[in-house]
Amino acid sequence: MAELKKIAVMTSGGDAPGMNACIRAVVRNAIFKGVEVVGIHRGYEGMIDGDFENLESHKVSNIIQRGGTILKSARSERFRTKEGRQKAFEQMKFAGVQAFVAIGGDGTFRGATVFEKEHGIQCIGVPGTIDNDLFGTDYTLGFDTAINTAIDAIDKIRDTADSHNRLFFVEVMGRDAGFIALSCAIAGGAEAVVIPETETNIDNLITILEKGWYHKKSSAIVVVAEGDEAGGAYDIARLVKEKFSEYDTRVAILGHIQRGGNPSVYDRILGSRLGVGAVDALLAGRRNEMIGVTNGKISFTPFSKATKHHQEINKNLLQLVEILSI
Ligand code: ATP
Repeated sequence: MAELKKIAVMTSGGDAPGMNACIRAVVRNAIFKGVEVVGIHRGYEGMIDGDFENLESHKVSNIIQRGGTILKSARSERFRTKEGRQKAFEQMKFAGVQAFVAIGGDGTFRGATVFEKEHGIQCIGVPGTIDNDLFGTDYTLGFDTAINTAIDAIDKIRDTADSHNRLFFVEVMGRDAGFIALSCAIAGGAEAVVIPETETNIDNLITILEKGWYHKKSSAIVVVAEGDEAGGAYDIARLVKEKFSEYDTRVAILGHIQRGGNPSVYDRILGSRLGVGAVDALLAGRRNEMIGVTNGKISFTPFSKATKHHQEINKNLLQLVEILSI
């Protein structure tokens, strides 16, 4: 195996707060270890176009506290084709890049797996997604910031809900996973949570809400993950309203504010640890693996596993919402 002299870093898929902290860590650790670093703009799209930038240490100054990603992110249909990946390989070869750190989600790791198989380019993946649904890490980059942003909004909604005895349906992000919704439901003292991992029963939901009213609660909040099989917050609110018209219901969709904002302390530290660890892993010859944290320690999971399995919802936490909402 040739000694690594030049590596690249890119962000791909949905952006997540903490990506910049990770980019900074990759760059600084690589330079510290005597390796040159190139930033790839716009994920695999930029790799195909050769949209590269040499990253010296000063280029990543003053970014640890910024949300989003200075390298921009994109989805790339072209990279899904053999011709697109061939082009990407030629650009990497031309730039002298031997390996790369890919910060993104499972799609990004699937792309890196095929790329390695076809062209032998070494890759270590960093789980960068607000959804926290990746197998092989306790937390993904951006999740902590996203739930803190959402909880800030939910606390504010509770104030107004309480003043008017209202029932609020608050929709949070999570197309396929309910981790954001579940965490927000517990931390926001919600009456109920609706997530894709469990079947939604409107009658049960109404029973829970009725109990709250019976116990003289002056407001109720139901946190809804956007990808619930019964629909989003508007759909769930309508279904509840159809059966119980006396509720004064309102809907709030938190949307993209959950993706932005300054990363939390946790995400800055996580991004820094994973970025440093990813470079060390490449230097140690590791490939086709996602770096993560398991029980607080750095861990590695083969892409084949990280992309096949999903993080499972903790049923005990679901029960916690039920117990604490009486
Ligand atoms: P997020 O969790 O935020 O959606 P992600 O990394 O899963 O992030 P995707 O859009 O699924 O986001 O994947 C990012 C990019 O990876 C795709 O746009 C595509 O270019 C590439 N990719 C995904 N799957 C494959 C695949 N099977 N083969 C080649 N490239 C792929």
